[in-house]
Amino acid sequence: AKGMGKNQYCVYDETMGSREVRRMELEKDLHRALEHNQFFVVYQPKWNVKTNSLFGFEALIRWDHPRLGVVSPVEFISIAEETGFIVPMTRWTLAEACRQCKSWQEAGLVQPVSVNLSIRLFQSGSLHELVQGALDKAGLDPHLLELEITESMVLHDINDIVRQLQAIRAMGVRVSMDDFGTGYSSIGLLDRIPIDALKLDKLFTNDLVTPSKRAIINAIVLMAETLNLEVIAEGVENEEHIRFLTQLGCTVMQGYYYGRPMKTDEVGEWLKKPPAGG
Ligand code: C2E
Ligand code: CA
Ligand code: CA
Ligand code: CA
Repeated sequence: AKGMGKNQYCVYDETMGSREVRRMELEKDLHRALEHNQFFVVYQPKWNVKTNSLFGFEALIRWDHPRLGVVSPVEFISIAEETGFIVPMTRWTLAEACRQCKSWQEAGLVQPVSVNLSIRLFQSGSLHELVQGALDKAGLDPHLLELEITESMVLHDINDIVRQLQAIRAMGVRVSMDDFGTGYSSIGLLDRIPIDALKLDKLFTNDLVTPSKRAIINAIVLMAETLNLEVIAEGVENEEHIRFLTQLGCTVMQGYYYGRPMKTDEVGEWLKKPPAGG
């Protein structure tokens, strides 16, 4: 028993150690990932179930680390936020997403692309210039760009965020509220925040069998209609999800059922055989 305990201790210790070592390695290498061209963007489709057609794409960043392979943003966004690297990183992602969107448009696929923003971008002071710069460089119509913000951001300095969002929307860029319904609730502020859409967090989609969760979604959808906001359900993985969400009035869905986040050549393949039900 004593030996086993020692073994367990060792395994536990090693796991903790390697996780810590991995984080340190990511921290050490992240600031050079841009100059070494290690980032790439994958695109996940959003699907309108009412019209049975594509609604747009979300751009999601990936880091191809030379030793560790492809690293999820879940692991490095927080590091990038801490170090401030998130600002140049997002500048790159925006530029890349705008360039890709423009190239799709030129090929006849006119679909908006959304990009995730971190609070640090609002604190850097010149967000609308950064966005304008990306649009200009790509020659992209602002209506084809959408920015995803999160609820917690508006708790920082609502007046400042509202002012910056107004400037961005005045350019014609759309804004959506990501992960809606989780963490901090901004529901009482929704009539003040200038947005075009709500993205229902995938936690709701995962819990649709619970009648109370369905009641909440129903209320959100009704509220969104009154506020003239689009609702996009996230994390849609199966037909049961689609059935429940459709009953609740959701028309736009995003999730593995419709398509995983894909590299652009995979998007090309995906477009040849769009989701079931078509
Ligand atoms: P998010 O914005 O909520 O993005 C949705 C996440 O859910 C993505 O994970 C996507 O791959 C995943 N997902 C999509 N469909 C399904 C599904 O049906 N089931 C499940 N279980 N998951 C699904 P990903 O790409 O790993 O991104 C994680 C988070 O990292 C994002 O959450 C976003 O907050 C952040 N992120 C990603 N790219 C960027 C970026 O360029 N900039 C910033 N600031 N954050 C980013
Ligand atoms: Ca998002
Ligand atoms: Ca989300
Ligand atoms: Ca999220």
